[in-house]
Amino acid sequence: MPRIASIEPLHARVGIRNQLLVKVTTEDGLHGWGESGLSCREGAVAAAIEHFAAFLVGQDSRQIGRIWQETYRSQYFEGGRVLTAAMSAIDIALYDLLGKRLGVPVYQLLGGKQRDEVPTFPSCQSTDLDDLLAKAGVLVDAGWDCLRIYTGDFAGDGVFDPRRNLNQAVKELIALREAFGPELCLGIDLHHRLSIAETADFCNRLPPGTLDFLEEPIRCQTPQAYRTLRAMTTIPFAVGEEFASKWDAAPYIEEGLTQYMRLDICNIGGFTEAMKVAGWCERHYIDLMPHNPLGPVCTAATVHMAAAVPNFSWAETRQGPTETLGFHDPELFPVQIPLDGITYKVPDGPGLGVEVDEDRIRASRPTHVEPPHLRRPDGAVTNW
Ligand SMILES: [Mg+2]
Repeated sequence: MPRIASIEPLHARVGIRNQLLVKVTTEDGLHGWGESGLSCREGAVAAAIEHFAAFLVGQDSRQIGRIWQETYRSQYFEGGRVLTAAMSAIDIALYDLLGKRLGVPVYQLLGGKQRDEVPTFPSCQSTDLDDLLAKAGVLVDAGWDCLRIYTGDFAGDGVFDPRRNLNQAVKELIALREAFGPELCLGIDLHHRLSIAETADFCNRLPPGTLDFLEEPIRCQTPQAYRTLRAMTTIPFAVGEEFASKWDAAPYIEEGLTQYMRLDICNIGGFTEAMKVAGWCERHYIDLMPHNPLGPVCTAATVHMAAAVPNFSWAETRQGPTETLGFHDPELFPVQIPLDGITYKVPDGPGLGVEVDEDRIRASRPTHVEPPHLRRPDGAVTNW
């Protein structure tokens, strides 16, 4: 029996942020890699991984579903984002390990490949409209048929003024639609900074056909809020990157509160939980649009999941030409799934298809990284 010998969190600086990797090693010397998705709170997740390692070492590394159940259900205070981010990293590493052990790509363990390449959407942002149009033009010229913008003129002073910001976003979206026509799928991520009223107002200012998906305008804790919002606009929603289990996703799927599932495989509970949510979405005619904001392990896990599900739209990529984040540093990750044009080609090697330069990762010490602590114009705290 290939028993787990060690589970080690590795917290490193990669590009403009830190990444929390986990290395799971078995007694026979194989290893697998996972990544946690709770960006900027990696220390809490690393400690959770160490709790889990205390009872997972010695277990059969192949019993992945059972390990998921034991880590989730063995604690009185079950679930929550920190714990499922830790579980996600371990689950992904166990799949990588099993694929390597059997000599098959991870998608083969998920029912096989349903597509040869995974379409992506990139993002762009600018406070200057001409610059934004130029960046979008670069993406369209490169072949992308879907892109997303962020709003934001808050970077300088840390103030997020929703009215000013949304007025700017309305102008941007109308200009983008005029410039690139109806064939481009156009989305915006509002980063759950708004109220229901602000979001409805924003939607009402957009001519029909301007916006193809509205990503996370409000926080997801209250499905009833999305139910209210859903009745106030016809624009499709893309919600789900905050979900930390199938139970979080359930009302959004069953009540039609999201039209794209933005699940994050490094947060929702790894392959074990993501595939259940994907099947549930298929039953309700909802395509996955995975959150993929981290490094090569997250990207590879997203690609294998995307390969294995029938209901899929685009994966987020942070490797487009309009962003320079450094999350996929080839010196730290000498083997990874590259962005090939506008898609990730599904790899056929064993496991995830990612290898880590451990010496470099261990030498790359994490630094304290905080997202901007935003304020409203009156000084009140608001969401990042
Ligand atoms: Mg988002």
